[in-house]
Amino acid sequence: PVTCVGAGVPSNTTLFDRSKEAIPGGVNSSIRAFKAVGGEPYVVARASGATITDVEGTTYLDLVQSYGAVILGHAHPAVTAAITDAVGAGTSYGAPTPREMKLAEEISSRMPSCERVRLMNSGTEATSTAIRLARGVTGRDRIVTFAGNFHGATDALLVAGGSGVATLGLPGTAGVPNASVAETMVVPYNVVPQLDDKVAAVIVEPVAANMGVVAPVAGFLEGLRAECDRVGALLIFDEVITGFRLAPGGAQAKYDIRADITCFGKVIGGGLPIGAVGGRRDIMEHLSPLGPVFHAGTLSGNPLATAAGLAALDTLTPDVYIELLARVRHLSSKMRDACASAGFEASFPVVGTLFGIVCGDAASDAVTNFDEAKRTDEAAYSRFFQAMLAEGVALAPGAYEAMFVGLGHTDEVIDRIAEATFRAATTAAA
Ligand code: PMP
Repeated sequence: PVTCVGAGVPSNTTLFDRSKEAIPGGVNSSIRAFKAVGGEPYVVARASGATITDVEGTTYLDLVQSYGAVILGHAHPAVTAAITDAVGAGTSYGAPTPREMKLAEEISSRMPSCERVRLMNSGTEATSTAIRLARGVTGRDRIVTFAGNFHGATDALLVAGGSGVATLGLPGTAGVPNASVAETMVVPYNVVPQLDDKVAAVIVEPVAANMGVVAPVAGFLEGLRAECDRVGALLIFDEVITGFRLAPGGAQAKYDIRADITCFGKVIGGGLPIGAVGGRRDIMEHLSPLGPVFHAGTLSGNPLATAAGLAALDTLTPDVYIELLARVRHLSSKMRDACASAGFEASFPVVGTLFGIVCGDAASDAVTNFDEAKRTDEAAYSRFFQAMLAEGVALAPGAYEAMFVGLGHTDEVIDRIAEATFRAATTAAA
């Protein structure tokens, strides 16, 4: 990367040290702190397309892409124009707007299981609302979740667990009382659990993208659908990552399964804060004001977030997904080849438009669950991460994150990332 720190330009370190005096750990989302990989984060000044530039003027090719929120690339002209157009008319009203209606309609039309959609402000709010809704609808308390899936900072889903046995909840973090997770059962991913009539809902990442990228094995999602139907439990798809990234209709379209409730975030806000819960009309009508399950939010359906989200969805025509598929295949195979030539053991699991990395010995076997995902060599990932950063490519600072490719990743960018990968993998293998 080219760096040109001029006189009077504050360095990353100066700014991050100051941040740490104002913000716990200097970050507003834990993983950004580089705790897992070592070192300290670059402090961002601006970003455009596939590039991100820090306050020192160093520009990286970016595979973080706001963890999947900016599928069109940073500062895409369509999104920027939509926000600019909207901003002069006020930034939040506390009353309904035409754009929130349009965004809800757009989501419903692309994902037919979502007959009604409620907009909110984050993926975390979506999963916590979905859980409350499922419990309210069924009159049952128990939630089934899968080891290695992540649903944001939702108390009921912050459960310790992960190994081969089904575990009935213990908190996975300080600050969550046992009672909040006592009715949460953690089971292994890719195995259909046997449910009973205590279960309100099963919540699943239809493609797991928080333990690397792990595909659902054949029959898994179908089995969940059937087992939920058998006992009268609701099936919640957490499509915060997969929604409108994996396919025009998300994972539900790709795998031809209808969820009862779907959670969204990221892509539907075009890079602005957003979340949404969608689902069958009879289920969604349990939400207040129609039904007894409370939900509200001062900034929900925000005029800027809905403007950005609509611009993003408008741009995401079916052709764009074909293009994204090709780019992900292209980049992942180039990175795979580069690592192999450099003698760095790594595999790059691809599921549609999503791909991840597994480092070390574990790389030779396909990962199907969290126990297998944890065999990734985290130290090797950290070496690779640092070497990539030194070569001018920004990856997520954690071995279990997906890599995000979008409209900013042109052929030229992909070639440059591949070249950097070879040099970084050579360094990381040494
Ligand atoms: N669900 C999934 C699958 C996620 O990956 C995330 C965040 N990465 C969330 C929920 C939480 O979303 P947010 O960070 O917007 O609260």
